[in-house]
Formats: sequence, C-alpha cells, structure tokens
Amino acid sequence: MPSNYHSVNSCKLCSSKNLKKVMSFPKLPIGDKYMPKDKAALTKEVFELDILMCQDCHHYQNSGFVNPDLIYSFYLSRPAATNPNLAEAFKDYAKHLVKNLSNNKKNLFAVEAGSNNGIFIDYMQKNLDVKVLGVEPSNLYEQAVKNNINTINGYFNKETAKKIKEKHGQADFFIANHTFSNVVDNIDFVEGVKLLLKDDGVFSMQTHYHKAVIEKNLIENFTHEHLSGFYAKPLKKFFDKHGMELFDVKVVPAKSGSIRCFAQKKGGPNKVLKSVDQVINDEIKFGMDKLERHDSVKEFIKKRKNEIHNFVSPIIKEGKKIAAYGTSTGATTFSFNYDLGSSISFLIDDDEFRQGLLSPFYNIPVVSPKKIKEEKPEAIIILAPLYADNIISKNQDYLSQGGKFVKIWPEFEIITK
Ligand SMILES: [Zn+2]
Repeated sequence: MPSNYHSVNSCKLCSSKNLKKVMSFPKLPIGDKYMPKDKAALTKEVFELDILMCQDCHHYQNSGFVNPDLIYSFYLSRPAATNPNLAEAFKDYAKHLVKNLSNNKKNLFAVEAGSNNGIFIDYMQKNLDVKVLGVEPSNLYEQAVKNNINTINGYFNKETAKKIKEKHGQADFFIANHTFSNVVDNIDFVEGVKLLLKDDGVFSMQTHYHKAVIEKNLIENFTHEHLSGFYAKPLKKFFDKHGMELFDVKVVPAKSGSIRCFAQKKGGPNKVLKSVDQVINDEIKFGMDKLERHDSVKEFIKKRKNEIHNFVSPIIKEGKKIAAYGTSTGATTFSFNYDLGSSISFLIDDDEFRQGLLSPFYNIPVVSPKKIKEEKPEAIIILAPLYADNIISKNQDYLSQGGKFVKIWPEFEIITK
C-alpha cells in the first residue's frame, strides 16, 4: 500500500477493533483532484475504498484514509457558494443558533471548523452580530481572509483548540458543517471542541446522513473525503462517552439528506428534545445496525451500471461523442462505479474555477457549457444528479438541436426534446 494511504483498524467513534466489511468500491483516485495540465499526472494514484461497520456501536467508516494534505492542498469544492439552496438553508440554521440557543447573551463568539470560504460565519458576523473565527485547512481560507472573515489555515484538533482558547477565549458556538465526516481523528476533534466551548456553549454539526445515503442511493457520498457515514445512534453514544450530550437532531434536505446534530457539555442548559430518540428509533426500524443494510446499494449500482452501458456502448461504437455534466468528488465516484472514464470525451461545469482543468485519473478536460454547441455530443450524462433539472432547463437549446440528457438518479432516464 502506498504511503499516501493509511489503513484504519479501530472504530473512529468507540475505538472498538471489532469491525466488519459491509461494502467494497472500486479503487478511486482523490475525487476532487481536478488539476491543471502540468499537474495532472499527480492524480493517477488510486486508493482502496471499503466500508466497515463497527460491531459495537454500529458506526460506518472507510477502511482507511488518504493523507489529508493531498486532498486539501488544491481544493475546489465550495458547496454553499455554488448552491443557492444550501446558502439559504444556512441562514435559517445560523439564526436558530443565535436566536434559540444562546440564552440571550451578548458578545457571542463562534468558531467554525472546515469553514470553507467562510460563507456561514460571514452571515453570522454581518447579520447576527457574532464575533467569528474560521479554521480551514485548504487554500479556500485565502478567499475568506480576503473577504475580512477571520480565518486560520489549518486542521482543527485539540492543539488548535488550545491556541484559539489562549488567544480568543472560549466559544459560545462550535460549528462543523460537512466537516466532521472528513476528520481523521474524531476523538481528538471532540476533545478540542470540549476544551474550546463554554459550559453553556453549543456544538452544532451538519453532515450527510448515512441513513439517507442508503435509502436514496446517494452513492456520491462514498469518497475518500467522507471518512465516516454518520447517523444519530452511534453519535449519541460517542458524545456521552466524551462528556457531552446530544440534545437535538434535525433531518434536513441539504444535499438530498443531511442531519444537523446539536450537542452540549453534560449539564448544559438545553433540554434533551424528543427528536433524538425519535430519529434513533427510525434508524433502528430501518435496520441501520444490520450487516446486510448496504445490500440494496450494491444492487442499485449493479443495475444502474448496466442501464448506462446499454445506452452508451452503441453510441461509442458508432464513433459519436458522449459528454458528462458536473465535476466534483461525487462525479468521480459515479464515473468509477459505472466505469465511464474511457467513454467520456469532455466534462462540462458552470464553475469557472474548474473550467480548463483535467479530471482525476482519466484526465478528461473540463469545459464551459458554451462548448456544447461547438462539440455537439450525442448525449450528456448528468454526474451532478441533484442539479439535473437545473442543468436541463438551462440547456434547452441543446435538446432542441437533437441532443439527449441522461439522468442517472433517482431513475435512469433519457431526456429528449
Ligand atoms: Zn464503534
């Protein structure tokens, strides 16, 4: 195994060594490594991706992790900046923290780990009068700093927490949105949160919901960035073990299925809401703690791969072009699971930061949607399924000229004029 990859043989939440493999994926490159031509050779390495289930707390996690510096050294993903729905939902979420969970205190201080380009805490400082600090390991911290959002460049852990506490004091809120699943050492992370939070402070984190991933076949979530697939049952036990208490859980529509978890130090001011047990009961009813729970996902991938290939193969045989729309870590998961890499002539993306780059491993060029007219592909496969309707409505001209869009989720569907 290359040194850029490290196997994990204990549970990231409860440290148990009793782990069982529930699913295997094809070896994948780092999914979001879209690189300029001179660096494209760096994306050729692929890493195993197996999903393990802890037999003690039933947490799901990857069998290992890629050196995080490789993932975050040239990082492009700005979900809240490129998805207006997510940005809008973040506003209500920030308001909920400040209006309902701050006990009407003044001079509030919020720290966010994995703050990306700072969009969430910027809303808090501009509209809710909260002093903020972001912690962001990727190059995106530069964008935040440029926009006057106080941000330090690094990973959040117990060490970082100590330094922040010395310099700024303790925080009223600690936020981690779509970050906790990317953390290598969740135990060290939560020890840092505990150190940094005031006794009446709130830790809130939003992450993709592993129950929704299974239920809706959201396979774009199986990547080397998401090291854990969280759901409430193991998290409740985890917080309890580390002197914290999960007091509210909300299932939210972000990314087609996320959970927002609110925790406090034990003895904190917030009442434990019924939502915690309700969500956990639903999870148990659904069989989240069953070894065979991923079998439906395996079947889904097999069926979808066949459907896609039955459509794509004759087109390729005739020498016509297939393009794909959407470039992200999820798009890489799709193209490897559906074995599409060698069939796609070019990738289309609206995000100009990605245009001109080459995809990981297959080095397929990423172009602007303007190129569709010139290149006239026979069909365009949508690798950003959650944005499919938006993509189709913006590209009606292509359909009018005889083009076809291919939806790969939730159903396989060919869209023509
Ligand atoms: Zn465990």
